[in-house]
Amino acid sequence: MERVTIQEASRRLNLSQADIRESIRNGELKAIREPSPTGRRWMVEMPEEGWENGFKSSLRDLAQSMTPWWWSNAQNTGFVHYVQDLGIEEIEPLYLCGLKGDNVWDATDHTPEQRCPECVAIARERDLPHA
Ligand SMILES: [Zn+2]
Repeated sequence: MERVTIQEASRRLNLSQADIRESIRNGELKAIREPSPTGRRWMVEMPEEGWENGFKSSLRDLAQSMTPWWWSNAQNTGFVHYVQDLGIEEIEPLYLCGLKGDNVWDATDHTPEQRCPECVAIARERDLPHA
């Protein structure tokens, strides 16, 4: 079993170091504390190829199985927007109309009238699914 530093694990697994630490805390990644010249440090056991932390894979499942239409705020006010990209390291949704948010909120039950007109226009123009 290969053990690497959190920094190296972060690089190889394409997750932030905070995500690596979180995955260690919740048991998704195994790690042990090893003595190092500067004290003790966490050494992460590299998981098998194809491993994804639960949060990331649930996001990916969501992205694949659900509508790309999301609320841009927790109050579910205004329009639902078409999410073009959820971001890789952190959730940084980029909505089709150019709006940027810091999170997405489930909009499964929205009506067509609640869709952002700009997002609708662009999605149709690009022939995107669920437009
Ligand atoms: Zn929009």
